[in-house]
Amino acid sequence: MVESFSRYKPLLYSFVHAASKLQFIKMTPPAIVVHYHELWLKGGNRDFFLGKLLTALRRSLEGISVVRIEKPGDRFVVRLAEGAPMEEASARIERVFGVAYYAIARPVERSLEAIAEAAWEEIRGLEFRTFAVRAKRSDKSFPHPSMEIESEVGRVLLEKLRADGRDVRVKLNNPDLACHIEITPGPALVYARKIRGAGGLPANTAGRITCLLSGGFDSAVAAYHMMKRGAHLSFAHFYGTGAEPGDSSLHVARNLVRQLVPYQFQTRLYCIPFEGIQREIVRYAPENFRILLYRRMMLRIAEIVAKRERALALVTGDSLGQVASQTLRNLVAVEKAASLPVFRPLIGADKIEILDTARKIGTYGISSEPFHDCCPVFLPRVPALHADACELEAAEEKLDVQALIDKGVRGASIESFQYESGAVTSKEQSRRGAEARTAATGL
Ligand code: ATP
Ligand code: MG
Repeated sequence: MVESFSRYKPLLYSFVHAASKLQFIKMTPPAIVVHYHELWLKGGNRDFFLGKLLTALRRSLEGISVVRIEKPGDRFVVRLAEGAPMEEASARIERVFGVAYYAIARPVERSLEAIAEAAWEEIRGLEFRTFAVRAKRSDKSFPHPSMEIESEVGRVLLEKLRADGRDVRVKLNNPDLACHIEITPGPALVYARKIRGAGGLPANTAGRITCLLSGGFDSAVAAYHMMKRGAHLSFAHFYGTGAEPGDSSLHVARNLVRQLVPYQFQTRLYCIPFEGIQREIVRYAPENFRILLYRRMMLRIAEIVAKRERALALVTGDSLGQVASQTLRNLVAVEKAASLPVFRPLIGADKIEILDTARKIGTYGISSEPFHDCCPVFLPRVPALHADACELEAAEEKLDVQALIDKGVRGASIESFQYESGAVTSKEQSRRGAEARTAATGL
């Protein structure tokens, strides 16, 4: 039985409430059992991925009192200290990539009787027709083998359920509900309610990518998808000056980065003034190609960012056919301006699916804020639908492309973001410091 955390929340409250009545739980706070997918563990990289997952768990739980994180087999057990905020710990683990599911476990004295009693407390309020007890004994000093624990606890549960008038039966293969018992050193653990984890691969396992982040919905969702596969992202945002002073898209880009950084703990946002570049394009290039030429300039400048960040690819929020600039031909023609691969994880996604993800990851509200988007500025009356790269290169002939890249790069400011102890902090890197560090890359 895997549930999403939002469905589980009321149960969590009731569990914590019920827990306060139980003496043993007062003495031993609940533990969180964290399961990962086996898929990415094949081959010699197992220790690397598990090490990264453990690091991600540790960093995500910073500031919450954790006694220790154990690994009694193919899962992690997070032992929280007394008084540790369980709901906060759950919310933090919910954002750790690589976690298939997790569960809040009742710690219980190591006797079959106490374990069966805790198992009953755990399952009595749940709806199911078939169930099984699954025991794992990683501490072999416990005198009863796993099979005996399973059959004994199963027998007690069945008796109690029947006495309660419930029409249920034991089913060992694919039951509606599995009640898990873990015998590890320290108290035994009992849990039946699994909460779906973030899935994906642990943070920072797949290399670096630079994301072209607008203030809209799509690019933040695209970033999330790549982070979920273990990529470490840096961000390039191009902004106009806005109708009113301060009314640009910068605050939206910053807030999106703040929302995304907990998945990977650290990142940098490059804010690049774009209006001057757009004016040059408007002045010297054919009107119908404007948006495509903006995008080509963005890719070129983002490549410089990528170089500084040692990123091997770019990512955008393009989705096939979403707007005129995202027809197949236009995407191909724009991409030719970049030498790095351009990844578009949303290429086959509908807007509705993208918005669902944006809601799930908390970027929807941020992208809905009003802001001054630089791209619609000087919008062409009739945008080209099917450009090819040669046409766009010809359209750029009157532009000093290198000078425009330099202009963007010189104007860029760099902000670094950290996720520590459950909070995001940011600071602007001094231009001079950044210049010194980036002399080699030009940014
Ligand atoms: P939405 O379509 O939801 O308004 P979007 O982020 O997809 O948001 P588009 O206008 O569709 O915006 O742009 C396509 C892609 O081009 C974006 O996903 C983003 O990767 C890139 N892009 C557009 N504008 C900017 C910008 N101002 N700064 C950085 N990247 C941008
Ligand atoms: Mg879009």
